[in-house]
Amino acid sequence: MTKEVTKRKRVKTAFKKLSQQREVPKSLFVLIILLYFIATIFLKKSARISNQPITFFGYPTTVGAFTGVFAYASNVCLIFLVVFYKKIGFITSTIILIASLPSLILSIVHSGRMDNIAGVFSTVFTVGITSLLLLNSRRVERYQKRIQEQAVTDGLTGLPNWFALSNLMELLVKKGEPFALISADLNDFKSINDTMGHDIGNLVLIEIADRWKTIADTGLSGTDDFVARVSGDQFAILVHAYKTDDDIMDAIRIYREALERKITVNECDYYMKACFGYAEYPADAETAGEMSSCADAAMHEAKRIGGANSIVRFSPELLESEQTFEIERKIRAALEGDGIRCYLQPQYTIDHKLRGFEALARLVDADGKMISPVDFIPIAEKTGLIDQVDLKVFRQAMEFLGTACKKNPDILVSVNVSVRHLMKNNFIEEIKETLVKHQVPFKNLEIEITESIMIDSAGKATTTLDEVEKLGIKIAIDDFGTGYSSLSYLNDLPASLLKIDKSFIDVMNTSDSSKKYVAAIVSIGHILNMEVISEGVESEEQLETLRSVGCDFIQGYIWGKPMPLSDAGKLVD
Ligand code: C2E
Ligand code: CA
Ligand code: CA
Repeated sequence: MTKEVTKRKRVKTAFKKLSQQREVPKSLFVLIILLYFIATIFLKKSARISNQPITFFGYPTTVGAFTGVFAYASNVCLIFLVVFYKKIGFITSTIILIASLPSLILSIVHSGRMDNIAGVFSTVFTVGITSLLLLNSRRVERYQKRIQEQAVTDGLTGLPNWFALSNLMELLVKKGEPFALISADLNDFKSINDTMGHDIGNLVLIEIADRWKTIADTGLSGTDDFVARVSGDQFAILVHAYKTDDDIMDAIRIYREALERKITVNECDYYMKACFGYAEYPADAETAGEMSSCADAAMHEAKRIGGANSIVRFSPELLESEQTFEIERKIRAALEGDGIRCYLQPQYTIDHKLRGFEALARLVDADGKMISPVDFIPIAEKTGLIDQVDLKVFRQAMEFLGTACKKNPDILVSVNVSVRHLMKNNFIEEIKETLVKHQVPFKNLEIEITESIMIDSAGKATTTLDEVEKLGIKIAIDDFGTGYSSLSYLNDLPASLLKIDKSFIDVMNTSDSSKKYVAAIVSIGHILNMEVISEGVESEEQLETLRSVGCDFIQGYIWGKPMPLSDAGKLVD
């Protein structure tokens, strides 16, 4: 029991330390006092033999000329004491000064000379200066304390904020002390803000914060807790003195019960619920930042599960689904705004004449960071958002093509179409509508599909693709050779272009058989009456080989990377 109380005290002092300044080392205190006494000894000595002649840097003078320097030095030492050590420094310097006064007064009385009267004034003057310094430093300290407290406190609820929490976690991690972090997110809090207004929402948050703070302060949960508000309706509870997972679960239940009790604000009753997720240090993570991510991942999982199972303990698989969840959120936000951007990568004939461009999606998140399609397209496919992504890219590409084909009527734009998008009932209508809107002739559009379309839903796919072809739109088979390549599928598709995947081009020149493989794909394409394009061409050597095997078109960094629409426009001019 006493051990737990000590631990509880340690967490509380750790938090206090966050709002405190760094201490000046004690050794400096001793050094200043030492310097003071050395200066005073020299001062006394120089006063006694003040008329003795000496040379200073070649100039003749007397010892007395240095008496003032030593007097200043001793006073400066006392002033430094107050500057660095505030109250203690002030008390020490005042004691030293007052103690030196009687000997000064005695020497005046004994000698009957007034030489030392300057020393008395200097002492009184120094006491005055040090008192003023102390008063001023007190004012500055009070101000600094207020600012520091504000930096670690949430303005609305008065709870510690995210900054305070992460500092405390860093402190515990540094000491290697185990702790658990609970992430709690209120359910449907947004609806209170939307329907009742932010003022009511704020009062509800304050009430929750008060209830939880009481539990933490009184140790009602049985563990040693630190409650913080980390953002809008998200709280975090750091649990310190606990023995088993059951202790954490019991603590969460106590916080949950307090939350779920009726909250009355302005004579209206609110019933709040929250989802809880938690992670443990050092079992789940090594740093404070990782602990936050793990606890959040567990909390998001609790949100996904919903219902009564609203407490989830972190497990490593959750991090992956957390990343997926994060990217899904980014895709949704990008779809609502203008975060899905169309980039164009040029395609050339083997003798370097512009054929057209492939439209490639880019996701720009709220921070302006560009996310690669390799990372977000698979998640868009999994979450059923891919057709919306494809459509956004398609519309931008067609707006570009509308202008481009007025300058060059043969220019093509290839767009990637996912299986799900192609299977949509209004796929053809959507395409037609956009082409008409931007006055793009059907023959200038090419759609890229992968062989997986035939594996997933051959019947419907061929019907749609036949319709596409009848409209005069071109069809290309993307990533050829990487999937379940079947010549009979290939024959069924009304495609006019075969795209050799980058993975074959990468290794093409490493062995004779790899080169023959590419040559064979080119031949198959030609036999089936298709033209052939190679993607991912980066070197002159690859270009030479492709030329020698009769490849028709080239797409790759060697002649152009994916670029924004404005740059692509300059290639058409
Ligand atoms: P993909 O259709 O095979 O596109 C070709 C990829 O190869 C592009 O990557 C392109 O930037 C890259 N590439 C082209 N030449 C070179 C080269 O010389 N060197 C290297 N290292 N890379 C080269 P990106 O833009 O990252 O796209 C990746 C994949 O994402 C695409 O592969 C496609 O499957 C998918 N994707 C991109 N945009 C869309 C879209 O709008 N809709 C759909 N459904 N999928 C898309
Ligand atoms: Ca493609
Ligand atoms: Ca490809």
